[in-house]
Amino acid sequence: MSKISVLGLGAMGSRMAASLMKAGHEVTVWNRSPKAADALVAAGARPARTPKEAATGADYVVAMLRDNDASRQVWLGSGTGAFEGMSKDAIAIESSTLTADWVRELGANAAERDVAFLEAPVVGSTPQAEAGQLTYLVGGEAGTFEQAQDVLKAMGSNIQHVGPLGSAALSKLATNTLMGVQLTAIAELIGMLKHSGAEVQRVLDVVAGTPAWSPVAARVSSLMLAGNFAPQFPIGLIEKDFGYMLQWADSDADAPTIAAARDVFRSAAERGLGEENMTAVVKLFT
Ligand code: NAP
Repeated sequence: MSKISVLGLGAMGSRMAASLMKAGHEVTVWNRSPKAADALVAAGARPARTPKEAATGADYVVAMLRDNDASRQVWLGSGTGAFEGMSKDAIAIESSTLTADWVRELGANAAERDVAFLEAPVVGSTPQAEAGQLTYLVGGEAGTFEQAQDVLKAMGSNIQHVGPLGSAALSKLATNTLMGVQLTAIAELIGMLKHSGAEVQRVLDVVAGTPAWSPVAARVSSLMLAGNFAPQFPIGLIEKDFGYMLQWADSDADAPTIAAARDVFRSAAERGLGEENMTAVVKLFT
């Protein structure tokens, strides 16, 4: 069993830390707002006051943070950053959904310090994190990937090595972009079907029997029709991911469909729905 530090105990990181503890690892936790650590500490995790303190003596350091800015602060913060505490034989695993550029910069920084580094964004939301059933998309050296397998398997059921640093970030952002474009289209369809006077569930059941349907369509349409907007993957986070993907388009005109879906999530956030689940975009159309 390994000594593993988890940095970032939000909706996903707290559940990942719990999975690591369940697998028998010795877990240290840190979160910017310390209260988020209370339940894990009560269950036996060791609390740390800074990312640097958490990383000191750890075999693996796993980060699960909101965005690029949080990642920069937590790994590189002067006097507090996790890299300052890591020993040379430890492995840094950045699991947040970030830009490919930032992940490569962070990897270069780790290499300068002789620290092994993987990017490991995840597919799946809070139910999969809770069940230790996440899909891991991993970028970095194949040897480091092999070394980290046991740790990743405690949190995920499908662990894929995508390629060099940045390739997993791009795979993750492409996945979320495709999911989000379908989600906004379904929200708009539900709105139009309601206005047409059709029995929405019956129409969607028919569509579900055609090749145009998808697993995402099934999941999000049932949540939308049930009015279930409890946060799993909130609108604010998917809007961030669309922005990260769209940095590879020179302008919105180069990716008009994706930019339009981003604008739908943006309007939802502006209407105060940013903390609600992504399915809450249906409120804009019904
Ligand atoms: P979350 O619940 O909003 O948690 C965000 C975490 O980031 C919190 O621990 C927060 O600390 C920390 N944070 C934010 N800004 C920070 C800063 N400047 N410095 C230090 N810490 C900071 O988000 P989540 O759902 O766990 O998602 C985490 C990452 O996983 C995101 O990149 C997200 O896109 C990705 N992801 C999410 C899902 C999902 O379904 N939720 C699925 C796959 C991937 P505080 O508690 O102090 O605010």
